[in-house]
Amino acid sequence: MSGLVVSNLTMVAGGLAIVAGAGLSAHAGEITGLVGPNGAGKSTLLSGALGLRPTASGAVRFCGSDLLAMPRRQRAQIAAYVEQAANTEDRLTVADVVGLGRMPFQSVWQDVGAQATDAAIVAQALDDVGLGALAQRLYTSLSGGERQRVHLARALAQQPQLLVLDEPTSHLDIHAQIEVLDLLKRSANAGATVLIALHDLNLAMRYCDRLAVMQSGKVVAEGTPDAVLTAELLDRVYGVTARRIEDPQTGAPVIVYDGVARG
Ligand code: ADP
Ligand code: MG
Repeated sequence: MSGLVVSNLTMVAGGLAIVAGAGLSAHAGEITGLVGPNGAGKSTLLSGALGLRPTASGAVRFCGSDLLAMPRRQRAQIAAYVEQAANTEDRLTVADVVGLGRMPFQSVWQDVGAQATDAAIVAQALDDVGLGALAQRLYTSLSGGERQRVHLARALAQQPQLLVLDEPTSHLDIHAQIEVLDLLKRSANAGATVLIALHDLNLAMRYCDRLAVMQSGKVVAEGTPDAVLTAELLDRVYGVTARRIEDPQTGAPVIVYDGVARG
């Protein structure tokens, strides 16, 4: 099938299974949201699914191919990852950092034509995230939100079929959050499989086609946001009392939080 299928993934750290037999699917052409409380194992699962941390057991397939068995370079030609606390070394310009996204496609014999193509892809990715004007700035001189968008641009420059982002909007103001989610929506509409960990359940409701909910190392619910984000689940997984109301203009579901349900 097209898209990502993670099955029965287990990952161990410090003697504990911090991902414990978790499975989820993310379809091509859709945004899939991975939600769940802090410490549920979202970041661990995402990095394990892309072969960036060791897995104890389980399988990860993308469009039928075994993602974990692939050589790194081949996997990087398919999948891009933006980690939660992405960072990079000193003295690189913004364009240099975004250019790292082209590395999986470059050879030591790269000719001038290929270099020009890569430069154009980098410029386009920077424009897409609204940072075209900062291309020559030093990465270390940027704010947290700008850095987050640089890493998104690096991932876009990879032109991935699978785009995995760990809390890509955590440092962004609401305007920038909506811009990033709109951009991811366009990537999905163009055919990419987009999988993002995020915390804002109302944004998840609005932007994600499907959700996987993680709790204590397991995926405990999967489906459309409307079906998954019930008051009962929010109580059980997050320990909050919440209500679902309808947006009076659009009829879309909106979550309103009343308080914590326990301790
Ligand atoms: P989330 O992204 O959902 O907040 P994480 O995947 O970052 O959760 O972490 C899941 C749990 O695993 C947390 O309790 C975290 O402290 C623990 N953990 C993550 N990495 C390690 C590690 N290298 N050694 C021990 N525990 C870890
Ligand atoms: Mg995390």
